[in-house]
Amino acid sequence: MPIDPSKPSTNTNGSPAPSDEYSLTVGADGPVVLHDAHLIDTLAHFNRENIPERKPHAKGSGAFGHLEVTADVSEYTKASFLQKGRETPMLARFSTVAGELGSPDTWRDVRGFSLKFYTDEGNFDMVGNNTPVFFMRDPMKFPHFIRSQKRLPNSGLRSPNMMYDYWSLSPESAHQVAYLMGPRGIPLSYRTMNGYSSHTYSWVNAEGKITWVKYHFISDQGVHNMTADRAKAIVGDHPDIHREDLFNHIADGDYPSWTVKVQLMPYDEAKDYRFNPFDITKVWPHKDYPLHTIGKFTLDRNPENFFAQIEQAAFSPSNTVEGTGLSPDRMLLGRVFAYNDAARNRLGVNYEQLPVNRPTTPTNQYTFDGQMAFEHSGSAPTYAPNSYGRDFATGYRTGSEATWEADGELVRSAQTRHAEDDDFGQAHALVHDVFSDAERDELVDTLVDLMTNFDMEEPVIGNALSYWRNIDAGIAEATEGRI
Ligand code: NDP
Repeated sequence: MPIDPSKPSTNTNGSPAPSDEYSLTVGADGPVVLHDAHLIDTLAHFNRENIPERKPHAKGSGAFGHLEVTADVSEYTKASFLQKGRETPMLARFSTVAGELGSPDTWRDVRGFSLKFYTDEGNFDMVGNNTPVFFMRDPMKFPHFIRSQKRLPNSGLRSPNMMYDYWSLSPESAHQVAYLMGPRGIPLSYRTMNGYSSHTYSWVNAEGKITWVKYHFISDQGVHNMTADRAKAIVGDHPDIHREDLFNHIADGDYPSWTVKVQLMPYDEAKDYRFNPFDITKVWPHKDYPLHTIGKFTLDRNPENFFAQIEQAAFSPSNTVEGTGLSPDRMLLGRVFAYNDAARNRLGVNYEQLPVNRPTTPTNQYTFDGQMAFEHSGSAPTYAPNSYGRDFATGYRTGSEATWEADGELVRSAQTRHAEDDDFGQAHALVHDVFSDAERDELVDTLVDLMTNFDMEEPVIGNALSYWRNIDAGIAEATEGRI
């Protein structure tokens, strides 16, 4: 039963609380007694209010809203929530990656862009970022990368030296690092940044035909960023500027929205495309795979309780629905395990039963019990197959399931077999062809600042300059000339 704040306060067992101001003592000046159960509950629960913060993406903000689909994509997917005219309730959570729960919103960082759609066929989650690429293409590297962005083991300080040591020795990070060091590395607000699935996913139509898909969520507020100087100036008074901005705009009825677009690649084209289309360090160029608008989502409801609805929200790319699926992107497949496991660690094994996470459709899952199980299937059989009327999935699902072919020996290898698989080409295109001259100048300022005002030292500075020389010789030269 939900708490009714208008009722007199109670003990945890529901009986009237004796006092929320005074402990039970032996006389007015005497000691506090141990059988003041209300005091003990209050202190003990307070000690347990904090739960583990997310390892990456700890600091976040979120809001509820809805997705409206405006285009007919039934040729590509049979997912009910993606059919033209459908409207689906949803939750969005935006976050920084490296900072802890209380860290400033203004640090240069990638931003998480997580969406949960409460569809009529189960929950569909999209766990993206505000960049279309990522730092690595193999999940084996993920914990190493995140630790390099966190804090040093001895001083507990953040360290550009450690960040660049990792990046410069991991050339597949170049595209994402170029994006991060550029103007979009510090968004003006969560409302003014785009989101990307980054990963390639699959869609399946009613005939079982599979199409590869990338999602783009283009801000209707426009993309606006903060200069490094502005971020430094604002952090003292407004460390939570992005949280403030999102909450206040929604509270004022100025609802942010994003146009939902997709790039579609026919199933067979993936095999011979000029680079590996499942490599998350690369984008699919717009000229090869143009964007198609399929709808729009709007955020129009703030959380009533931040902890219950945002901190306890758990997103996972494993939450797919009929007509949607995964792809051979290695990072995506790693995240399918890692996100659920992180939620089990942070929230407990029954995190999907929490109101913000549970599907709005009826469920019949064969997982049972565990800590904090409060939804259950009564006396129905706990095993399948059974002869007592509890439904269970049977046989092999093929054809309509999102799938792909693969064979070969078990190997550990780089995922690079296409003609144009390289680490620096698209990073160079971004810095050289997409950034304006002013943005290139600002990029040099950012690199000079990092290399001169923090803990960067040799050999990392030399390695970082070589890395930047591979991305764009002009940027490396201009930076080297100023350090
Ligand atoms: P296009 O010229 O068609 O696309 C360039 C895209 O870059 C724009 O459409 C915009 O995408 C995005 N962009 C614009 N300014 C910036 C900026 N300052 N920082 C980061 N991104 C910016 O060329 P391609 O599709 O061939 O891509 C060229 C490069 O653009 C890529 O190497 C990639 O780094 C970057 N890019 C490409 C995207 C893609 O999906 N193809 C998406 C985003 C960036 P948007 O409308 O999404 O903001």
